[in-house]
Amino acid sequence: MLYMRKEIIIIGGGIAGLNAGIELLQKGHKVTIIEKNSNVGGLCSGYDVNGFYIDACIHWLMGTQKSNALYELWNNIDAFNDDVRIIRLENFVTIDYNGTKVRVGRDLEKTRLEWINIAPEDKRNINKFFSIVKAMEKLMRYALKCKTKKSFMDLVKIIYKSPSIIKSMTMSREEYAKRFKNPALKFAVTNMMTGYNNMFFLFDVYSIFSQGNADVPSGGAKYMVERIKNRFISLGGILHLNEEVTGLEMEKGKVFAVKTSKNNVFSSDAVISTVDPRYILKKLLGNKYKVNKLERANKRVKLNPISSCFNVYVTIEGDISCIDGPTIYNIDPIQVGNTKVDYLLVRPYNFDLDYFVKDNKTVVSLFVDQNQEDYHYYKLLGEEELKKTEQRICDDLIAALIDKNPNLKGRVDYLTYFGPVELEKRTNTSYGALQAYSLTDLKSFYFTEGRVKGIKNLYCCGQWTRCIGGTPTALLTSHQIAKKIK
Ligand SMILES: Cc1cc2nc3c(=O)[nH]c(=O)nc-3n(C[C@H](O)[C@H](O)[C@H](O)COP(=O)(O)OP(=O)(O)OC[C@H]3O[C@@H](n4cnc5c(N)ncnc54)[C@H](O)[C@@H]3O)c2cc1C
Repeated sequence: MLYMRKEIIIIGGGIAGLNAGIELLQKGHKVTIIEKNSNVGGLCSGYDVNGFYIDACIHWLMGTQKSNALYELWNNIDAFNDDVRIIRLENFVTIDYNGTKVRVGRDLEKTRLEWINIAPEDKRNINKFFSIVKAMEKLMRYALKCKTKKSFMDLVKIIYKSPSIIKSMTMSREEYAKRFKNPALKFAVTNMMTGYNNMFFLFDVYSIFSQGNADVPSGGAKYMVERIKNRFISLGGILHLNEEVTGLEMEKGKVFAVKTSKNNVFSSDAVISTVDPRYILKKLLGNKYKVNKLERANKRVKLNPISSCFNVYVTIEGDISCIDGPTIYNIDPIQVGNTKVDYLLVRPYNFDLDYFVKDNKTVVSLFVDQNQEDYHYYKLLGEEELKKTEQRICDDLIAALIDKNPNLKGRVDYLTYFGPVELEKRTNTSYGALQAYSLTDLKSFYFTEGRVKGIKNLYCCGQWTRCIGGTPTALLTSHQIAKKIK
C-alpha cells in the first residue's frame, strides 16, 4: 500500500491535542495545532500570579509508575522522563473531622490499623473496605498493562466475578459511608475524593495511588506541558497560539478547510477536535451533526454530572505544619454557587519547595466541587453580581481555612481564584467542566468512538469522549484516534 503523508489540523492544544499531534508526527504526517490561548495545556495548566507560581490542575497523574501502558504514553510525549522527579505524597488525603484526623495513606495496612484505632466499632467494615482496595490494586495493575481489546475484555470478566466490586459500581460514596457508625469515618468515606464519581471509582483511584502509580511530577502542570510542547515542536509540529477555530468548511461529507479568528483558512486531509464535542457541534457545525452515545450522556444530568470546581489560591507565610498534606475539613456550610458546601479541600504545595515556596510563603489551594447546577447559577448573575459573589466565596473559604487553623490568622494572603465561568471561558468546556461526565452507576458509563456521524474525516478525542475525563482519558482517547489515522 502506498503511504500518504497527510495534512492534519488539530483543534486545541491541551493534553489530547498535544498527544495526538506528537503521535501523528511520529508516523510522518504534517500536523498543525490551533490553540485559542496564549499557551498550550488547556485545563492542564499552571500560571504565574503576583510573583508566585500556581498549578491550576495536577492533584495526581495516573501512570507515574514505569512498565504500564499509561507511563509509556506519558514518556513518549516527554511528560515524564528519567530526569523528572516524581513526588510521591504519603497520603492520598487526610480528613480532619472536628479535629479527628483520618489519614488515607499509601500504606494500606498502616492506614487500616489507624482507622480501627479511631473507630473500633467499625472494624468489620474497615477490613472489608481495605480488602476491596487490595483487590482493586491487583485489577488495576492488570488493567494498566492492557494493550489489546482482548486483554481489556478479560479484565471486564474478572471484575464481574467480584460481587463487592460490582456492588460498588452502583453505589454513591454517601450510600456506602452509611455502613460506618463513626461520624469521622462516615465523613471521610463520603468526601475523601473530589468530584461526583461513585464508590467504584474511589476504590479504583485509591488503589492506583496506594500501588504507587498516581503521583505528581515536580514543577506541576506548566513545566510538564512545556516539555510536551517542546517535543511537539522538535518533531516538526506547527503551533498557532492565540488563534481560535471559528468554522469548519464542509464538502461531500468531509471537512476540507478550517477557518480561524485570524482569518486564516487551513486545508486539511483530516481534522481532530479535542474540544468539548458539544461546542464543535453547536458553534462550528450549526447543530446538524451528532456524536453517538455522547448525546445520551448530555441528557442525563443526574446520572452523568460533570465535575467543575471553585478553586482559591492563597499564600501562607511561615510554618504550615498544622496542615498535614492535602486535607479535607468539615466546615460550617458555605453557599458556593447553587450548593451549600460542608467540606473544604486544602492543598499545601510545600511538597515541591523549588516551585511553590518563596520568601517563606507557601502556595496553598482551597478547592470545592461544582457541577452543572452551579454553573447555571453563576450564569444567571450579571457581570458585577458575579464578581461580588465570587469574591464573597473567596472570603468565605479563606475564613473557613482560618477557622480550622486559628494560628494562620494574619499570615494568609489571597492570590487568585477560578470557578466554572472562568474555566468555560478559558477552554470552551461545557459548564466549566474540569472532568467530563462522572461515573455514578453502571448505566452512566459511556464510550464513544470519537466519530461525528456523517463526517468522514473529523475525529473527536479528549476528556469528553469517554466517561470520567481527566488527563488519562485525554491521553488514551487521543492515542486511539492517532492509531486510526493511517
Ligand atoms: C483544577 C483542576 C484540577 C484537575 N486535577 C486533575 C488531576 O489531578 N488529575 C487529572 O488527571 N486531571 C485533572 N484535571 C483534569 C484535566 O486537566 C483535564 O481533564 C485534561 O487536561 C483535559 O485535556 P483535554 O486535552 O481533553 O481537554 P482541554 O484541556 O480542554 O483541551 C482543549 C483545548 O482546546 C482549546 N480550544 C477550545 N476551543 C478552541 C477553539 N475553538 N479553537 C482553538 N482551540 C480551542 C482549549 O483552549 C484547550 O487548550 C484537573 C483540571 C482542573 C481544572
